[in-house]
Amino acid sequence: MQELSQHLSHTLKKLRKEKEWSLDRTAKETGVSKAMLGQIERGESSPTVATLWKIAGGFHCSLSTFIEPYSIEPYNPHPSTLIRNANDLRHQPAKDKMLVAPIFPFDPQLSFEVFELTLLPHYERYSEPHETGVIEFVLVLEGEMELFVDQQWQTLTKGMSVRFAADKPHGYRNLSTVQAVFHNVIHYPR
Ligand code: MN
Repeated sequence: MQELSQHLSHTLKKLRKEKEWSLDRTAKETGVSKAMLGQIERGESSPTVATLWKIAGGFHCSLSTFIEPYSIEPYNPHPSTLIRNANDLRHQPAKDKMLVAPIFPFDPQLSFEVFELTLLPHYERYSEPHETGVIEFVLVLEGEMELFVDQQWQTLTKGMSVRFAADKPHGYRNLSTVQAVFHNVIHYPR
């Protein structure tokens, strides 16, 4: 089993055990089929980012819980300096047209996570609303992309940033022929 598949399998089993959810219940809560959940637990499937996001939503936990194969350290009010390089962190789950780098995985004390997301040409994805109170920030680093927010597609170019309530339908797409890269900061209510 690859490191990421193994981490996914372990995390899903652990969360189900904590909640005492059957595969049936988990399928209902996440909108992901029982067959797919079983495959993930057996390490037989590399789910897309969209699927991972659905599972995370169903469990009311962050996406990085499923992506970052390293343990999150307990809260320290005086943390040591942490230097991260997105170049070493990019994953392409299931050969999605989206690359995900969990730059700062979910921190329960600070209640946010930071990703660098790369949308390859022609990538399009609608996100289910996250739980109430989730707020997202999109900061475009490279290229041109569109964000679906307030019921319409908004064009964003390098240097533009948006904050929006992510407990409503939203989405990301890249209609261009070159990649678009952005930082995605996600705040979860405590
Ligand atoms: Mn989202």
